[in-house]
Amino acid sequence: MRMASRFRRGWPIFVVATLLAIIAWFSQADGLMVAAGWALIVLSIFAIRFGSSAVANAPAKEEVAEETDAQPLAEIVTAYNALDIPILILSSDATVLFHNPAAEKALGEFEVGSHLSARLRSPGILDMVRETVATGEPNQMEHSERLPSERVYILRIAPVMEEGAPVGAARLYVLSFRDISELRRLDRMRSDFVANASHELRTPLASLRGFIETIQGPAKGDAKAQEKFLGIMLDQATRMSRLVDDLLSLSRLELKSHIAPDQRVDLLPLVCHVRDALQPLATDLGVDIRMHMPEGKVEVTGDRDELVQVVENLIENACKYGQEGEIVDVYLTKQEGQPVEFSVVDRGPGIPAEHVPRLTERFYRVSVADSRSKKGTGLGLAIVKHILTRHRARLIVKSEIGKGTTFTVRF
Ligand code: ADP
Repeated sequence: MRMASRFRRGWPIFVVATLLAIIAWFSQADGLMVAAGWALIVLSIFAIRFGSSAVANAPAKEEVAEETDAQPLAEIVTAYNALDIPILILSSDATVLFHNPAAEKALGEFEVGSHLSARLRSPGILDMVRETVATGEPNQMEHSERLPSERVYILRIAPVMEEGAPVGAARLYVLSFRDISELRRLDRMRSDFVANASHELRTPLASLRGFIETIQGPAKGDAKAQEKFLGIMLDQATRMSRLVDDLLSLSRLELKSHIAPDQRVDLLPLVCHVRDALQPLATDLGVDIRMHMPEGKVEVTGDRDELVQVVENLIENACKYGQEGEIVDVYLTKQEGQPVEFSVVDRGPGIPAEHVPRLTERFYRVSVADSRSKKGTGLGLAIVKHILTRHRARLIVKSEIGKGTTFTVRF
C-alpha cells in the first residue's frame, strides 16, 4: 500500500526523466548511456524525495499507531472522568472495563472487571448489550433505578469503532445513562395540573347544567325554586370565575418568573390598605384583625400588585381557616441589619405537620370540603409562593395543632 502510493506521488519525476532521455536520444547521444542516465536520474530522485522521508516517518507513524492501539482506554477514560453523565465501558462479553465517577454516584459502588449483570440485573439491558455486540448497531432503552435514589434513565449502548468498519470490529462498547427523571416529574406535574384544573371546573359546570335542566323541566313554573336555584347557580359561576382568575394569575406569574421586580414598595400603607379591604369579611367571620406595625417606612424591592396579593391571601386564609381563634395578629417588622418580615398569626386549629411542606402545591388542600365551603380554589398559596420566588423572598410556615398557624414572609 505504502509503495504504491509513493509511486503514484512520484510520477511527475518519472515523466521528466523520460523526457530528458528522449531529448538525449534524438540529439544522437549513445543509447546505452542515455538508458543508464535515465535510470540513474529516476532512482536517485526517488531515493532523495521518498527514501529519506520514508526512513524518518515510517517508524514514527508505526510507533503512534502502536501507542494508540495499546492504550485506547487511557485516552477515553480521562475524558469520561470529567463528564457528569454516567458512562460504562464494556468489553464484548459485557465485562465492565471502566466506569466514571458519575456512574458510581448514580449506581453505587461496583467493581471494574465484574460482569455488567453484577450491577444491572435487568434482562432487558443484557439483551440490548448482546444485540449491539452481534449487530454493531447502537441501541437504547428506558430503565429505572431505585437505589441509591429513584431515577429514570435512557440507557444507550454504542460500539467504539471507525466509520465503515465491518461488524464485529469493535472491541469496546460505551454504555451511557441519560437521566430523564426530572422530565418525567415535570410531565407528571403538568398532566396532574390539567387533570386537577379540569376536575375543579367540571364540578361547578355539572351543577350549573343540573340546575338549568331543573329550571327548564320540573321547576318550570316554580318561581320560588327558580330563585333559590339561580342563587346557587350564581355561586357556582362565581366559583368558576375565581378559579379561572387564579389560573390566569399563576400562568402570568410563570411567564415573568425570571424577571426580578424593581419598584420600591412601602409595605406599611400596603398592609393597612389590605386590612381595610378585608375588614367586612373578618366582621362576617367574627374575627378581629390586630395590627402590629412599626414606625416609619418599611420599604422592599417588589411589585406592588403582587405584594397586595400575598398579604391578602395570607390574611384571608388566617381569617377563614383560623376563624375559631377569633383573633388574627398581623406583624410587620424592620430591624437594623435584619431582613424585613411580614407575619400573620392565627389561633385556629393548626395544620398537621405532614401537610405543611405541600401547602404551596397547586390544588393542595388539607381538607377539600373545608376549602370549598370557604370559597377556596386551592391555588392561593401556590400563587403566594410564585410571587415570593420572583421576589427572592421566603415563606416560612409554623403550625401547632390546637394552637394556630404562623405564616411569615422574609424579604
Ligand atoms: P384555598 O383556596 O383552599 O384557601 P390555599 O392555597 O390558600 O387554598 O391554601 C391551601 C390550604 O392550606 C387550604 O385549603 C387550607 O387547608 C390550608 N391553610 C391555609 N392557610 C391556613 C391557615 N391559616 N390555617 C389552617 N390551614 C390553612
